[in-house]
Amino acid sequence: MLEHDVIIVGGGLAGCRAAVEIARTDPSLKVAVVAKTHPIRSHSVAAQGGIAATLKNVDSTDSWEAHAFDTVKGSDYLADQDAVELLTQEAPNVVIDLEHMGVLFSRLPDGRIAQRAFGGHSHNRTCYAADKTGHAILHELVNNLRRYGVQIYDEWYVLRLIVEEGQAKGIVMYRLQDGQLAVVRAKAVMFATGGYGRVFNTTSNDFASTGDGLAMAAVAGLPLEDMEFVQFHPTGLYPVGVLISEAVRGEGAYLINADGDRFMANYAPSRMELAPRDITSRAIAREIRAGRGIHPDGSAGGPFVYLDLRHMGREKIMSRVPFCWEEAHRLVGVDAVEQPMPVRPTVHYSMGGIPVNTQGQVRSSPDGLVEGFFAAGEAACVSVHGANRLGSNSLLECVVYGKLTGSAIAHYVQNRKLPTLDEQRYLTEVSQQIQSLLDQAGTCRIHQLRQAFQDTMTQYCGVFRTEALMSEGLTQIQNLQQQYPQIYLDDRGKCWNTEIIEALELRNLMIVGQIILSAALNRQESRGAHFREDYPQRDDPGFLKHTFAYYSPAGIDLSYRPVTITRFAPQERKY
Ligand SMILES: Cc1cc2nc3c(=O)[nH]c(=O)nc-3n(C[C@H](O)[C@H](O)[C@H](O)COP(=O)(O)OP(=O)(O)OC[C@H]3O[C@@H](n4cnc5c(N)ncnc54)[C@H](O)[C@@H]3O)c2cc1C
Repeated sequence: MLEHDVIIVGGGLAGCRAAVEIARTDPSLKVAVVAKTHPIRSHSVAAQGGIAATLKNVDSTDSWEAHAFDTVKGSDYLADQDAVELLTQEAPNVVIDLEHMGVLFSRLPDGRIAQRAFGGHSHNRTCYAADKTGHAILHELVNNLRRYGVQIYDEWYVLRLIVEEGQAKGIVMYRLQDGQLAVVRAKAVMFATGGYGRVFNTTSNDFASTGDGLAMAAVAGLPLEDMEFVQFHPTGLYPVGVLISEAVRGEGAYLINADGDRFMANYAPSRMELAPRDITSRAIAREIRAGRGIHPDGSAGGPFVYLDLRHMGREKIMSRVPFCWEEAHRLVGVDAVEQPMPVRPTVHYSMGGIPVNTQGQVRSSPDGLVEGFFAAGEAACVSVHGANRLGSNSLLECVVYGKLTGSAIAHYVQNRKLPTLDEQRYLTEVSQQIQSLLDQAGTCRIHQLRQAFQDTMTQYCGVFRTEALMSEGLTQIQNLQQQYPQIYLDDRGKCWNTEIIEALELRNLMIVGQIILSAALNRQESRGAHFREDYPQRDDPGFLKHTFAYYSPAGIDLSYRPVTITRFAPQERKY
């Protein structure tokens, strides 16, 4: 059996930052990072627009309190304010620390780190590396893993979290190269497995964002928090759904409907294109519904609106958002210097996740903790984003809470022994699970079932939701789940069998989707990204609380936890 003091699942920003912090705090600890991709291919590498921090390089009137208020207001008052305070107070320190590690941020003429405007932020506080910020940060962090001697298991797929008697003891993982299974036991297990965009049919997320960590925690009997809050990013490139960063609007681009109007004037007159994402996505969806969307031939009544950069000029476009120009040019043949880009909302981010406290320790219930289990990043819910995340706050969360969780783990493991567990039992169970997938004599291809499932989630749990729609959606996905034993695999070998991984991921997608729908059906109000046409108002007396959803094959049980409010009393949210 493999043994480490700490095993971290996930090589994105959150996992890598935690590993670096553990190694810095106690260099004698044996730390390992596992990732189903190479760490450098984690979705973090695709982050474009930037990371928020009140460095005050561009706007000296900014403050961490203003950043905290913007974040809480953006969250529609569902964020836990103690967690937001930590996030915004730590932000300048973690960005400077990244700078010292070697991250190449874009600069002001005087050499200080440049900062740009972003949706829902009242000051220009988003630090960036052109529109490739995730790339710049992740490469440095992965280099630092090597520097600190962190062991990397890349292209190993984790398929089981071992929890016994309320303690996390380890994981079971599968090597893609040759199908080898391994049990790892550790004094602390951390999940930093990222988001679940692939639950839906149009997403900005990479193919690996399948919610594996969430599903593994749920199957182990642990709750997931606030899963109904799914962020739709306003500007997914039509028809592919690939992201066109909010930085493009931060640098001055307009949203235009079929009548040629900057329609955001009717939805958020004070912030226009830089309103928070939930509001902007609903505005675009409403314009399209009202027949003011655009068709590919330019006529009205179509499925997208325009993002117009033309007035920004070639030089600004090519220096500030070159990657977005390139994406539109490469994928849909649009030269954004000369033509507007076709965009519509695309599934982007998971506000909910594995519930954790501000030390990153996972909650077993609204008031209990799991021994030996930690989580951070998009997979976790410390609830700094509440019902709607502000752009450039997610990279920040990964780095701040990656660091805080790493530090907490380094101290936690000092007083903990390696747990005992029955390696053979887990190897047998998991190899039987894989063998039964290989032996399934079904008639349905994995991609057919996955597509049907993603289409169902998109149709029944999208930007606009109602009880009737979601109840029907739940029935339909339960029918699709019953077809899972009907899938068959063409490849029955052990060498790079990616079909096995796709089959395991599909099961995870279905579990996560069922939890999202159940939590959404029960929240009879509209808050942030969760918009109910049958309950269009926010209902603080009834629903100013976090959802805790527990999965079992028989169904989903829900309970709730109060929101932590420290300094900002809930108000009506207007922009
Ligand atoms: C296109 C795009 C642009 C974005 N731009 C910005 C931005 O400008 N600013 C901002 O703040 N946020 C942005 N975001 C959001 C932000 O990038 C993510 O929320 C954040 O990077 C997530 O980091 P993470 O470390 O939590 O997970 P990820 O970077 O997603 O990493 C997850 C890791 O877990 C591993 N993993 C998952 N499941 C398993 C398994 N079963 N076994 C083994 N390993 C597993 C993966 O291999 C990977 O290494 C953007 C997101 C997207 C999709």
